Amino acid sequence: MPGYEVELEEVNKDVVCGICLLTIKYAASGCSGNNHIYCHDCLLQLVETKGDNAVCPECRDKLNISPVGVMTQIINKLKVKCSFEGCSWKGDLIDLVKEEGQGHQFSCDYQLVPCVFHDCQQEVLKKDLKDHQDNCKNRNIECEHCNTTIQFHEKFLHYGSCGQVIVDCSFKGCNERIAKQYLDSHKQANTNKHLDLMMNNFHESENEKDELKKEITELKKKINKLEYTLMIEIKPKLENHDQNKNNKSNLSVTNSPNAKSM
Ligand SMILES: [Zn+2]
Ligand SMILES: [Zn+2]
Ligand SMILES: [Zn+2]
Ligand SMILES: [Zn+2]
Ligand SMILES: [Zn+2]
Ligand SMILES: [Zn+2]
Repeated sequence: MPGYEVELEEVNKDVVCGICLLTIKYAASGCSGNNHIYCHDCLLQLVETKGDNAVCPECRDKLNISPVGVMTQIINKLKVKCSFEGCSWKGDLIDLVKEEGQGHQFSCDYQLVPCVFHDCQQEVLKKDLKDHQDNCKNRNIECEHCNTTIQFHEKFLHYGSCGQVIVDCSFKGCNERIAKQYLDSHKQANTNKHLDLMMNNFHESENEKDELKKEITELKKKINKLEYTLMIEIKPKLENHDQNKNNKSNLSVTNSPNAKSM
Protein backbone atom coordinates (compact mmCIF):
# COMPACT_ATOMS: atom_id res chain seq x y z
CA MET A 1 0.00 0.00 0.00
CA PRO A 2 1.62 3.25 -1.11
CA GLY A 3 0.98 6.64 0.50
CA TYR A 4 -2.18 8.74 0.74
CA GLU A 5 -3.62 10.38 -2.35
CA VAL A 6 -4.95 13.47 -0.60
CA GLU A 7 -5.25 17.17 -1.27
CA LEU A 8 -3.34 19.06 1.43
CA GLU A 9 -4.55 22.55 2.26
CA GLU A 10 -0.92 23.67 2.26
CA VAL A 11 1.67 22.08 0.00
CA ASN A 12 4.41 20.46 2.12
CA LYS A 13 7.16 18.59 0.34
CA ASP A 14 8.54 17.24 3.64
CA VAL A 15 5.65 14.81 3.83
CA VAL A 16 5.93 13.48 0.27
CA CYS A 17 7.32 9.95 0.00
CA GLY A 18 10.29 9.86 -2.39
CA ILE A 19 9.29 6.40 -3.60
CA CYS A 20 5.57 6.65 -4.37
CA LEU A 21 5.44 10.48 -4.54
CA LEU A 22 2.26 10.56 -2.42
CA THR A 23 1.73 11.82 1.13
CA ILE A 24 3.62 9.50 3.49
CA LYS A 25 1.56 6.77 5.11
CA TYR A 26 2.98 5.32 8.37
CA ALA A 27 6.27 7.20 8.34
CA ALA A 28 9.47 5.19 8.60
CA SER A 29 13.13 6.08 8.28
CA GLY A 30 15.12 4.24 5.62
CA CYS A 31 18.59 4.87 6.94
CA SER A 32 20.12 5.12 10.39
CA GLY A 33 22.37 8.13 9.80
CA ASN A 34 20.32 10.60 7.75
CA ASN A 35 16.76 9.94 8.84
CA HIS A 36 15.30 9.96 5.31
CA ILE A 37 11.62 9.26 5.69
CA TYR A 38 9.25 7.27 3.42
CA CYS A 39 6.05 5.28 3.72
CA HIS A 40 6.64 2.17 5.79
CA ASP A 41 5.12 -0.01 3.08
CA CYS A 42 7.19 1.58 0.30
CA LEU A 43 10.38 0.65 2.20
CA LEU A 44 9.15 -2.90 2.78
CA GLN A 45 8.53 -3.12 -0.95
CA LEU A 46 12.19 -2.23 -1.58
CA VAL A 47 13.32 -5.06 0.70
CA GLU A 48 11.03 -7.43 -1.10
CA THR A 49 12.50 -6.62 -4.52
CA LYS A 50 16.17 -5.95 -3.64
CA GLY A 51 16.63 -8.18 -0.59
CA ASP A 52 19.95 -7.61 1.21
CA ASN A 53 21.05 -5.13 -1.47
CA ALA A 54 18.28 -2.64 -0.64
CA VAL A 55 19.57 0.87 0.09
CA CYS A 56 18.03 4.20 1.14
CA PRO A 57 16.95 5.77 -2.19
CA GLU A 58 18.33 9.14 -1.15
CA CYS A 59 21.73 8.54 0.52
CA ARG A 60 22.35 5.01 -0.74
CA ASP A 61 23.15 3.81 2.82
CA LYS A 62 22.18 0.25 3.60
CA LEU A 63 18.46 0.13 4.19
CA ASN A 64 17.52 0.21 7.84
CA ILE A 65 13.81 0.59 8.48
CA SER A 66 12.49 2.11 11.68
CA PRO A 67 9.01 3.62 12.17
CA VAL A 68 8.82 7.32 13.07
CA GLY A 69 5.64 7.61 15.15
CA VAL A 70 5.96 11.35 15.77
CA MET A 71 6.04 12.01 12.04
CA THR A 72 3.02 9.78 11.49
CA GLN A 73 1.10 11.76 14.10
CA ILE A 74 2.03 15.06 12.48
CA ILE A 75 0.92 13.81 9.07
CA ASN A 76 -2.35 12.49 10.50
CA LYS A 77 -3.14 15.98 11.75
CA LEU A 78 -2.43 17.76 8.46
CA LYS A 79 -5.42 19.71 7.12
CA VAL A 80 -6.90 18.26 3.98
CA LYS A 81 -9.85 18.89 1.66
CA CYS A 82 -12.16 16.23 0.36
CA SER A 83 -11.25 15.67 -3.27
CA PHE A 84 -14.72 14.79 -4.57
CA GLU A 85 -16.04 17.59 -6.73
CA GLY A 86 -18.73 19.64 -5.05
CA CYS A 87 -17.87 18.53 -1.50
CA SER A 88 -16.84 21.18 1.00
CA TRP A 89 -15.57 18.82 3.71
CA LYS A 90 -12.27 19.86 5.35
CA GLY A 91 -10.50 18.30 8.30
CA ASP A 92 -7.61 16.23 9.63
CA LEU A 93 -6.06 13.84 7.14
CA ILE A 94 -6.75 10.86 9.38
CA ASP A 95 -10.49 11.66 9.49
CA LEU A 96 -10.58 11.57 5.71
CA VAL A 97 -8.69 8.32 5.18
CA LYS A 98 -9.43 6.32 8.36
CA GLU A 99 -9.69 2.70 7.37
CA GLU A 100 -12.51 0.19 7.67
CA GLY A 101 -14.81 2.64 5.94
CA GLN A 102 -14.72 5.14 8.79
CA GLY A 103 -12.98 7.99 6.96
CA HIS A 104 -15.03 10.69 5.26
CA GLN A 105 -13.86 9.57 1.81
CA PHE A 106 -15.82 6.34 2.16
CA SER A 107 -19.08 8.01 3.08
CA CYS A 108 -18.77 11.22 1.05
CA ASP A 109 -22.05 12.10 -0.67
CA TYR A 110 -20.20 13.50 -3.67
CA GLN A 111 -18.56 10.30 -4.84
CA LEU A 112 -19.95 8.44 -7.83
CA VAL A 113 -21.57 5.14 -7.00
CA PRO A 114 -23.16 2.59 -9.30
CA CYS A 115 -26.90 2.00 -9.37
CA VAL A 116 -27.67 -1.40 -7.83
CA PHE A 117 -30.12 -2.52 -10.48
CA HIS A 118 -29.12 -5.06 -13.03
CA ASP A 119 -28.70 -3.61 -16.54
CA CYS A 120 -28.46 -0.03 -15.30
CA GLN A 121 -25.01 1.21 -16.23
CA GLN A 122 -25.40 4.55 -14.51
CA GLU A 123 -23.17 5.98 -11.84
CA VAL A 124 -24.65 8.78 -9.78
CA LEU A 125 -23.57 10.94 -6.86
CA LYS A 126 -24.07 9.01 -3.65
CA LYS A 127 -26.43 11.70 -2.38
CA ASP A 128 -28.65 11.19 -5.45
CA LEU A 129 -28.57 7.40 -5.41
CA LYS A 130 -31.83 6.87 -3.56
CA ASP A 131 -33.66 9.29 -5.85
CA HIS A 132 -32.19 7.63 -8.90
CA GLN A 133 -33.01 4.12 -7.73
CA ASP A 134 -36.56 5.12 -6.83
CA ASN A 135 -37.05 6.21 -10.43
CA CYS A 136 -34.58 3.98 -12.31
CA LYS A 137 -36.21 2.42 -15.34
CA ASN A 138 -34.42 -0.80 -14.45
CA ARG A 139 -35.76 -0.87 -10.90
CA ASN A 140 -37.51 -3.98 -9.76
CA ILE A 141 -41.24 -3.83 -9.36
CA GLU A 142 -43.84 -6.45 -8.71
CA CYS A 143 -46.47 -7.15 -11.35
CA GLU A 144 -49.69 -6.22 -9.55
CA HIS A 145 -51.46 -9.15 -11.20
CA CYS A 146 -49.09 -12.11 -10.83
CA ASN A 147 -46.62 -10.75 -8.21
CA THR A 148 -43.64 -11.70 -10.35
CA THR A 149 -40.65 -9.38 -10.00
CA ILE A 150 -40.08 -7.49 -13.24
CA GLN A 151 -38.13 -4.44 -14.30
CA PHE A 152 -40.08 -1.21 -14.56
CA HIS A 153 -39.29 -0.66 -18.26
CA GLU A 154 -40.72 -4.07 -19.23
CA LYS A 155 -43.98 -3.47 -17.38
CA PHE A 156 -46.21 -3.02 -20.42
CA LEU A 157 -44.48 -5.78 -22.36
CA HIS A 158 -45.11 -8.06 -19.41
CA TYR A 159 -48.77 -7.06 -19.17
CA GLY A 160 -49.14 -8.27 -22.74
CA SER A 161 -48.08 -11.77 -21.75
CA CYS A 162 -49.10 -11.92 -18.09
CA GLY A 163 -51.78 -14.57 -17.65
CA GLN A 164 -53.16 -12.91 -14.54
CA VAL A 165 -54.14 -9.65 -16.18
CA ILE A 166 -57.92 -9.23 -15.91
CA VAL A 167 -59.70 -8.98 -19.26
CA ASP A 168 -63.27 -8.76 -20.50
CA CYS A 169 -64.81 -11.77 -22.21
CA SER A 170 -65.04 -10.77 -25.86
CA PHE A 171 -68.67 -11.92 -26.32
CA LYS A 172 -70.95 -8.91 -26.39
CA GLY A 173 -73.19 -9.02 -23.35
CA CYS A 174 -71.24 -11.68 -21.41
CA ASN A 175 -69.77 -9.10 -19.04
CA GLU A 176 -67.43 -11.65 -17.41
CA ARG A 177 -64.07 -10.28 -16.26
CA ILE A 178 -61.43 -12.97 -15.80
CA ALA A 179 -57.68 -13.55 -15.68
CA LYS A 180 -56.41 -13.87 -19.24
CA GLN A 181 -55.06 -17.37 -18.61
CA TYR A 182 -58.61 -18.60 -17.87
CA LEU A 183 -60.19 -16.96 -20.90
CA ASP A 184 -60.02 -20.08 -23.08
CA SER A 185 -61.50 -22.35 -20.46
CA HIS A 186 -64.19 -19.76 -19.77
CA LYS A 187 -65.10 -19.80 -23.45
CA GLN A 188 -65.17 -23.60 -23.49
CA ALA A 189 -67.31 -23.79 -20.38
CA ASN A 190 -69.77 -21.17 -21.58
CA THR A 191 -70.39 -22.18 -25.16
CA ASN A 192 -74.18 -22.30 -24.77
CA LYS A 193 -74.35 -18.99 -22.99
CA HIS A 194 -72.18 -17.39 -25.66
CA LEU A 195 -74.27 -18.90 -28.47
CA ASP A 196 -77.44 -17.51 -26.87
CA LEU A 197 -75.79 -14.13 -26.63
CA MET A 198 -74.82 -14.32 -30.28
CA MET A 199 -78.40 -15.15 -31.23
CA ASN A 200 -79.69 -12.23 -29.19
CA ASN A 201 -77.16 -9.95 -30.76
CA PHE A 202 -78.18 -11.25 -34.17
CA HIS A 203 -81.88 -10.58 -33.48
CA GLU A 204 -80.97 -7.21 -32.15
CA SER A 205 -79.25 -6.37 -35.36
CA GLU A 206 -82.22 -7.75 -37.32
CA ASN A 207 -84.45 -5.41 -35.37
CA GLU A 208 -82.07 -2.60 -36.07
CA LYS A 209 -82.29 -3.44 -39.75
CA ASP A 210 -86.09 -3.27 -39.67
CA GLU A 211 -85.89 0.09 -37.93
CA LEU A 212 -83.56 1.32 -40.62
CA LYS A 213 -85.89 0.10 -43.36
CA LYS A 214 -88.77 1.97 -41.79
CA GLU A 215 -86.72 5.10 -41.56
CA ILE A 216 -85.68 4.83 -45.19
CA THR A 217 -89.30 4.40 -46.28
CA GLU A 218 -90.26 7.49 -44.29
CA LEU A 219 -87.47 9.45 -45.89
CA LYS A 220 -88.52 8.32 -49.38
CA LYS A 221 -92.04 9.53 -48.68
CA LYS A 222 -90.73 12.89 -47.61
CA ILE A 223 -88.63 13.20 -50.74
CA ASN A 224 -91.59 12.35 -52.96
CA LYS A 225 -93.69 14.95 -51.26
CA LEU A 226 -91.00 17.55 -51.72
CA GLU A 227 -90.66 16.64 -55.38
CA TYR A 228 -94.39 16.98 -55.85
CA THR A 229 -94.41 20.38 -54.21
CA LEU A 230 -91.58 21.44 -56.43
CA MET A 231 -93.20 20.29 -59.65
CA ILE A 232 -96.76 21.36 -58.96
CA GLU A 233 -96.42 24.52 -56.94
CA ILE A 234 -92.99 26.07 -57.28
CA LYS A 235 -91.99 25.32 -60.87
CA PRO A 236 -94.98 27.03 -62.54
CA LYS A 237 -94.40 30.11 -60.45
CA LEU A 238 -90.76 30.21 -61.48
CA GLU A 239 -91.68 29.83 -65.12
CA ASN A 240 -94.14 32.67 -64.84
CA HIS A 241 -91.54 34.81 -63.30
CA ASP A 242 -89.08 34.08 -66.16
CA GLN A 243 -91.75 34.83 -68.71
CA ASN A 244 -92.39 38.27 -67.25
CA LYS A 245 -88.75 39.03 -67.28
CA ASN A 246 -88.40 38.09 -70.95
CA ASN A 247 -91.35 40.24 -71.91
CA LYS A 248 -89.81 43.18 -70.18
CA SER A 249 -86.45 42.81 -71.94
CA ASN A 250 -88.19 42.41 -75.34
CA LEU A 251 -89.91 45.64 -74.64
CA SER A 252 -86.72 47.53 -74.05
CA VAL A 253 -85.22 46.18 -77.28
CA THR A 254 -88.21 47.23 -79.42
CA ASN A 255 -88.58 50.54 -77.66
CA SER A 256 -86.74 52.51 -80.38
CA PRO A 257 -87.83 55.89 -81.79
CA ASN A 258 -89.25 54.16 -84.89
CA ALA A 259 -91.34 51.69 -82.99
CA LYS A 260 -94.93 52.62 -83.02
CA SER A 261 -96.21 50.18 -80.51
CA MET A 262 -97.10 51.12 -76.91
ZN1 LIG B 1 5.45 5.89 -0.37
ZN1 LIG C 1 19.03 8.00 3.66
ZN1 LIG D 1 -16.49 14.69 0.63
ZN1 LIG E 1 -30.35 2.83 -12.33
ZN1 LIG F 1 -47.83 -10.41 -14.28
ZN1 LIG G 1 -67.97 -14.98 -21.64
